[in-house]
Amino acid sequence: WKHAPTTFRALLENSRFHGDKVFLAYEDERITYEEHFRRAATLARRLAEDFGVTKGDRVAIAMRNYPEWVVSFSAILALGAVAVPLNAWWTTPELEYGVTDSGAKVVIVDGERAERLRDTAAPMIVTRSAGGLPPGAREFAEVLGEVDPGATLPEVDLGPEDPATIFYTSGTTGRPKGALGSHRNLGQSPMTVAYALLRSVALAGKDPATAASARRITLLTVPLFHVTGCFAVMTATMFTGGGLVLMYKWDPGLALQLIEREKVTIMTGVPTNAWQLLSHPDFGKYDISSLGGVSYGGAPAPPKLLERINDQLPQRQASNGYGMTETTALAIYNSGPAYLAKPDSIGLPVAVCDVRVSDPLGRELPVGEVGELCMRGPNVISGYWNRPDATAETFVQGWLHTGDLARVDEEGYVFIVDRAKDMVIRGGENVYCAEVEAALFEHPAIDDAAVIGIPDDELGEQVGAVVRLKPGTRATAEELRGFLAGVLAPFKIPVRFWFRDAELPRNPGGKILKTHLRKETLGL
Ligand code: ATP
Ligand code: MG
Repeated sequence: WKHAPTTFRALLENSRFHGDKVFLAYEDERITYEEHFRRAATLARRLAEDFGVTKGDRVAIAMRNYPEWVVSFSAILALGAVAVPLNAWWTTPELEYGVTDSGAKVVIVDGERAERLRDTAAPMIVTRSAGGLPPGAREFAEVLGEVDPGATLPEVDLGPEDPATIFYTSGTTGRPKGALGSHRNLGQSPMTVAYALLRSVALAGKDPATAASARRITLLTVPLFHVTGCFAVMTATMFTGGGLVLMYKWDPGLALQLIEREKVTIMTGVPTNAWQLLSHPDFGKYDISSLGGVSYGGAPAPPKLLERINDQLPQRQASNGYGMTETTALAIYNSGPAYLAKPDSIGLPVAVCDVRVSDPLGRELPVGEVGELCMRGPNVISGYWNRPDATAETFVQGWLHTGDLARVDEEGYVFIVDRAKDMVIRGGENVYCAEVEAALFEHPAIDDAAVIGIPDDELGEQVGAVVRLKPGTRATAEELRGFLAGVLAPFKIPVRFWFRDAELPRNPGGKILKTHLRKETLGL
């Protein structure tokens, strides 16, 4: 065994033990573990031979969740190059920024992204293109050529601290930052997921051996270009030999059909996916008895969601995972009976991750006090690509400062109070948007809600709320205020409501784009 088992190559080589089991299912296409390995190994050689990609070079991927995304990712990492997944929702200037910022040597895209990146200087490899290719670009299938049945990974001297990925953060609080992850960072992520699963099995009093050996079929409802999709789901699946059902685009109606057709055992994504599945008019029309659990994370999950899962999907295990791009996905996890007991908690840290709550000077705070959540461990990246300022600000004395406000209870359960930047400060009093939003979700007419600060001369800020009602329901601002008065202190109750028919603007990570919303509603 020549290579450190902490590199991605080990994960890929081990995945071959799962042989002819189906790894990727997309529409009618099926790719087994063996086939995936061969394609990745063949593509790695082509990238080296035809494009001169070597260790440390960046290669960008910009496409929907096609099987080629996974094959490209595997090939790039097996070669010792750095994979740079770009957000497929990005416009031309944003995609150009990703290509230039990362200094990508090659860009692997689908037809739609190829159009947007038509004028890019980097050589392009294009898949799923409906029309002709942009000048100079090459077709993915042609680059791959004949897949070598005896394919082996190209030789490369790779260690656990070598860079593996640059994932851009979701851009919720500002311009997306490139999080530079090492092989050690990503190598631990499947272990983290396995640990979280086994702990929840133990907490539920079930047999860990049965749970560990059952084949999981996961419906991936979020993009692969964020760490939740890539690490909490894709590489974790690769590690355990499960099957991954890919969707071109999130669609709750199609998700119901796929759960029935592919006998999906777990659906993983952001809280919005679960919420929309439960709200879909076709819910109840399909046989989704294979589904044993619904897990979500990456954005705040209102406790109401857990209630709805218990109601509409009884006996299914719900899980809430907390993680960041900077923690290589999952870091804190709540599920099963523990989650039912503490529905507003994100749970306990996973195996490898140290967690603490600090004051602004970085001193640890006692149980129950609200401060900034900080983390360290092999899952935490060491910094941002090309952003020494942001790196120095976020990574202080070995701890990652998350920008999230949290508290920990006597049993070690972590509660996210809000994002530090998402708090409304009303006359010196902190109002946590997440708390007001969770209270709004309890109202039967509310389909979606976002709380924002309204500038105010006297108080600095006032609380405002943008809401979307469920079709066929009615509620006035007065009614909503009356409803909230039963659960929230008066200063937390929105003074103004905006009702809208359109969906609230969200990024692919499921988070509401409050900067857009403020601009739309307040013109700020
Ligand atoms: P940017 O850093 O560019 O502003 P972002 O922080 O939204 O964007 P991500 O790394 O995708 O980018 O998201 C991490 C953040 O998501 C966390 O800091 C936290 O605020 C939020 N988050 C993740 N999981 C959960 C969860 N289970 N509950 C509440 N919040 C969560
Ligand atoms: Mg962030």
